[in-house]
Amino acid sequence: MTEEIKAYCMKCKAERVIQNVQIVTTKNGRPAANGACPVCGTKMFKFLPSSYKAMAAPAAPAADAAPAAEPAQEPTSEQPTS
Ligand SMILES: [Zn+2]
Repeated sequence: MTEEIKAYCMKCKAERVIQNVQIVTTKNGRPAANGACPVCGTKMFKFLPSSYKAMAAPAAPAADAAPAAEPAQEPTSEQPTS
């Protein structure tokens, strides 16, 4: 699957089609493109619209199977601020 995704190369100061592009999912759950500039080889990275999510390779397995549920403790005695 070859997807043509353009990104701005900081080194060429021009827009390039990312080479060896890989669709990845960031920690935030957002899809992004990872690759290299076809001209200078500089690493390129670009956030993608969520429509790319289906194409994204699964990120590292979520290790947070048991999220520590912290009970919200509300102050029982509120001190009035004058
Ligand atoms: Zn470049």
